[in-house]
Amino acid sequence: MNLENILNNTLFTRDELIFLLSLEGDDMKKLLDRALEVKLREIGNEVYLRGLIEYSNVCVKSCLYCGVRSKNTNFNRYTLTDQEVIDCAKMAMDLNYGSLAIQSGERSDKNFTDKITYLLKEINTLSDGKLGITLSCGEQTPEVYREWFEAGAHRYLLRIESSNQELYYRIHPNDKTHNFQTRIDALNSLISIGYQAGTGVMIGLPFQTIENLADDLLFFKKLNVAMVGMGPFIPHSDTPLYEYKDLIAPDRQRLDLTLKMIACLRLLMPKINMVAATADQTLSPNGREEAVMAGANIIMPNLTPTKYREEYMIYPNKACVGDKPQECQGCLDNRMKSIDHKIGYNKWGDSKAFTNSK
Ligand code: SAH
Repeated sequence: MNLENILNNTLFTRDELIFLLSLEGDDMKKLLDRALEVKLREIGNEVYLRGLIEYSNVCVKSCLYCGVRSKNTNFNRYTLTDQEVIDCAKMAMDLNYGSLAIQSGERSDKNFTDKITYLLKEINTLSDGKLGITLSCGEQTPEVYREWFEAGAHRYLLRIESSNQELYYRIHPNDKTHNFQTRIDALNSLISIGYQAGTGVMIGLPFQTIENLADDLLFFKKLNVAMVGMGPFIPHSDTPLYEYKDLIAPDRQRLDLTLKMIACLRLLMPKINMVAATADQTLSPNGREEAVMAGANIIMPNLTPTKYREEYMIYPNKACVGDKPQECQGCLDNRMKSIDHKIGYNKWGDSKAFTNSK
């Protein structure tokens, strides 16, 4: 296969994606450079922020990779108070972030779903509708998704984790609460309700192949999602998948594979929003900048009150756990300037792929 020819494509076959995901050294650099060029041409050099609120680590699921799985009893469970959430929203406004992301362990009881509805309404009133809100609160019924949409959430991120059913069941318990088809149905329901829907996968999982990752990219394209959040898998010692940590590639290789996934997807879906995940920075100090240079355009600075952050350990050694939000803003500003990008303050930063499809 000829790299230069493939890089000029806008449509890619599965084999071409496998070829691109296998590149190394100078050839890999050519892929990343091409993705940056396409990003700058299609959506520019602005990076949008989603102030992240890690609302609760109470979770009914037991995903085999996740540190806050219900079966892990080695830490305290917390849920932010209403006031703490409101304070985070005010902080986002003070810092001119433009948008919030509320992420949480999964619960589907009515107390929880009503509370999210209430908080969405409060935040909208408080900000006079100026703060964009992304939710990432797992699988819910179409009725709940609709209620939250009507209460003011307009983007929703639900990672499929792996679009390959067999791999999905190797990283999740095979039972009623972890059903592959339910997750697919949830994604479709988000799209049909009118959310800017996002999905994504973890990269470098044990048992995962390059073929699986190429199929994940084609899955995102087929679903025509407006946004994608992908990041490297980071083994957590209190989870069942830790047993297979020797099967995974070294940190730098998992980060490189993440960069190649981002770059390929930028070529495949030029206008979508794509996150430079905090997990990238866990693997390398400049991991998030590297992701932005490979085609990502969203960063999620953490607004969670510092005292809870150690308890939201979905994976270990999360970056920036000790940072104060104000420090975070200055730091991000400089980091983006150093790579010729700028932060889009006070903007929702909606996916241009979504606007175009309407
Ligand atoms: N309960 C919500 C939010 C999950 S946490 C939901 O189900 O959508 C957000 C993401 O963290 C997950 O979707 C998963 O992709 C990622 N994650 C969890 N454990 C991880 C690990 N060990 N390494 C890397 N990413 C992880």
